[in-house]
Amino acid sequence: MNWLKKTIRFGEKIKKIFKRRATKDEIESSDWTSCCVGPILRKELEKNLFCCPNCNKHHRISPRQRFGMLFDSGNYEILKTPIAKDDILNWTDTKSYKDRLKEARIKTNQDCAILVATGKLNGIDVTVAASNFSFIGGSLGISETEAVIYAIDHSIKNNIPFINICSSGGARMYESLFALSGMTKVTLAINLLKKNNIPYFVVYADPVAGGVTASMAMLGDIQISEPGCLIAFSGRRVVQATVKEELPSDFQLAEFSLKHGMIDRIVDRKNLAKEISLLLSILLKKNSDVDSKLENETSKLNIKSSKVS
Ligand SMILES: [Zn+2]
Repeated sequence: MNWLKKTIRFGEKIKKIFKRRATKDEIESSDWTSCCVGPILRKELEKNLFCCPNCNKHHRISPRQRFGMLFDSGNYEILKTPIAKDDILNWTDTKSYKDRLKEARIKTNQDCAILVATGKLNGIDVTVAASNFSFIGGSLGISETEAVIYAIDHSIKNNIPFINICSSGGARMYESLFALSGMTKVTLAINLLKKNNIPYFVVYADPVAGGVTASMAMLGDIQISEPGCLIAFSGRRVVQATVKEELPSDFQLAEFSLKHGMIDRIVDRKNLAKEISLLLSILLKKNSDVDSKLENETSKLNIKSSKVS
């Protein structure tokens, strides 16, 4: 019966080959990604600012890609933000937090999840912070908190608006209470922006959840979201189990949040720079490069002046 055992083993090996799925890292480093039409070349998607030409899904992008799209002629300066000592709690679960940080840094070429840059947006000087979801889910830890505070400080010192592009799963559990205290720290720092009458814009980029939604992402003078972005505090299943009601299919999407007044506008990625600079030119009462061209569009934007402090 030896031949039978060999045949079965051979069959199992064949099955394993066909069943093997690509790992997360293999998918991320591949030239291909998938969307509504099936596999699509990343290069094709890049031509359309990583938005699907068919369904308009806004795919996730890195802070550097964002800065390249937002700032005038892709010119910007990255600001070096303070980096805290790694893993002060000596946290280990399925792997050590130190290893997670090491992997995230290699994968993203960033020291922490948030990058801060300064430059011109249609002629208006701004500070921009952007989270990288590929860096431990864009979570808010001590270094990320410091990055946001540094960006706010830069805005106050130079009297220029602050734009915070959030894409995060929330506070970083590996830093426990230290990460949670970051929510209070960024909130206090944003209050300083408001005391100095400096505009604070939030841009939601899929997904924004947990402690980030519950702190800096909810405090913008103007709240903008990319289409289809998940905006949540706790997950859909938790909410459903708590309220014991069937939730609408678009629950926690940007479109649902807009309908219920949680955000002000949904803007396609290709129009972000134009719309932000137009709104800034109104708030700052000064001309941006697009101001004169788009003056007539102001009325269409239907901005509620009461929203702006
Ligand atoms: Zn698509």
